Amino acid sequence: MAARVGTYPLSPRRLAMRLEPIPPDACPRCAQRRLAGRCVSLGCRQGWLPLRHTHVVLGYNQGDARRLVLAAKDAANRNAVTLLARVLAGYLLAEEVRQAYDWLLPVPFHPGALRGRPVHPLTAIYLDALSVLRPAIRCDDLEPPFLVQARATPSLRGQSEAARWRVVRGAFAIGRTTRMLSGARVLLLDDVMTTGATLSECARVLIEEAGAALIAAVVLVRQPWRADAATRTQGRLARTAHDD
Ligand SMILES: [Zn+2]
Repeated sequence: MAARVGTYPLSPRRLAMRLEPIPPDACPRCAQRRLAGRCVSLGCRQGWLPLRHTHVVLGYNQGDARRLVLAAKDAANRNAVTLLARVLAGYLLAEEVRQAYDWLLPVPFHPGALRGRPVHPLTAIYLDALSVLRPAIRCDDLEPPFLVQARATPSLRGQSEAARWRVVRGAFAIGRTTRMLSGARVLLLDDVMTTGATLSECARVLIEEAGAALIAAVVLVRQPWRADAATRTQGRLARTAHDD
């Protein structure tokens, strides 16, 4: 549907909502704010984050952006899914983004994570944008997916930052035997980045088992770190965290 392509991608700047963009001096690897020049996220402090860069489509997970992502994630609202897919396409089709990567892959989900929802929200957003993205970016067709979630993980909501890193270890695996990712620059898509643990575990598998050269992330929103919240409560604040 070629006619759709021209009007489908939507610049995040054109959304009639108040967004809190990632500041230019945020950590480029995880998009978290820095305190006294240093990234506060556990993954960066410990050197666990294999991501070269994190792109954030809407900004920090607050206000209108948070409400929109929640509508897609928790309520499976079809309009929210389509709107998010359109701004995702608008972001990814910018020349500097699409030329920096060879492949776009969504973070996989375990069937048990559907919890009664008719579709997996991130997959629905990805599939909605796919026909528009494909001419410009090589995308995982999910038949079968490059990456699978090999075992269910307990809900990550309410978990501490450290616990989130432990829980996802070994949860993902290569879904098809291929050389297509060997030496490739891969952009991994997720809806919310909370600690970066899920994206990092996917990145580790792609590097170690598929030979990918470089992994970066693109997420709709980044959960902001708060000085008044110890890591103990980080998960609780992250109501929209990636719990699938
Ligand atoms: Zn960082």
